[in-house]
Amino acid sequence: MRPFQYQRAHSPGDAAQCLAAPNAMLIAGGTNLLDLMKLQVATPDHLADIGRIGFDSIQDLPDGGLRIGALVTNTAAAVHPRVRADYPVLARAILAGATQQLRNKATTGGNLCQRTRCYYFMNVDQPCNKRNPGSGCGAIGGINKLHAVLGASDECIATYPGDMAVALSALDAQVVIAGAGGDERTVPVRHFHRLPGDTPWIDNVLEPGEIILSVVLPPPVRATQIYRKVRERSSYAFALVSIAAVVEMAGGQFTRADLAFGGLAHKPWYDPRIAALLVGNAPSPELFDQAADLLLEGAQGQGDNDFKIPLARRTLHAVLAQAVEQAA
Ligand code: SF4
Repeated sequence: MRPFQYQRAHSPGDAAQCLAAPNAMLIAGGTNLLDLMKLQVATPDHLADIGRIGFDSIQDLPDGGLRIGALVTNTAAAVHPRVRADYPVLARAILAGATQQLRNKATTGGNLCQRTRCYYFMNVDQPCNKRNPGSGCGAIGGINKLHAVLGASDECIATYPGDMAVALSALDAQVVIAGAGGDERTVPVRHFHRLPGDTPWIDNVLEPGEIILSVVLPPPVRATQIYRKVRERSSYAFALVSIAAVVEMAGGQFTRADLAFGGLAHKPWYDPRIAALLVGNAPSPELFDQAADLLLEGAQGQGDNDFKIPLARRTLHAVLAQAVEQAA
């Protein structure tokens, strides 16, 4: 690990000031960043520890929603009574990720900002446009079983590895962000992460100096909530395909069908056309197929990951069938 300056921030303003130093990064739980630093993938000169700036509580909101502080650990969020009762898809998604020890340290904000686990990104001897812009993409034509089939570019085919953000996308949660000057803005989780395009080193919409303060969940709905994660082993593995579903039915028809997908793209994938197709219609295998057609329109395998395309179709069928059964 390269030497670096360590500084403890005591407030968001303090953190912003630390971030203004050249080549500075924030650290909270450190479950991703420390690995990247040991591998020399991340080489900050200044490290600002935000672990004690607050934002570590979960609060009820007047409209019935819930605010989860950016420094709430994944474990604390997953076991919180309101999360378990009103947003079970979120609790299940968090518990499907990593291990108990990692969830005890990992934070809500850090989880959103975690970086891809592309093998080439993690190996400084390999070409990677995300780590070293202009060096090429080792995964294109290389080993790419975990890589994207949707929204990829000629520059990068990495996937966003997390589970929590997939559930937050289905729930239409908002990310509250503070700027260097203390000003705040809110971004829907659905628009927080970005596709690689020709700037694959930019993972999300955070501007320099900005930090995440909290995630806000909308008022709960009595919907059927499902998180299904298909992976190579039953724990401590990233999703090949995952689906978070928030589904309501009335009179034999879908009245809500918010579905978000993990493991398929550089961001949690949410396509509003799927909800528009399903809502107002009665469930049927043909309808599910049409939903899968929309999801997979333009899907492009890279060789090793070709299997994800039929797997996503089958998983979508299974999740919708389960949702219909549970909602009946
Ligand atoms: Fe790097 Fe993206 Fe290519 Fe992986 S897929 S090697 S992260 S550019």
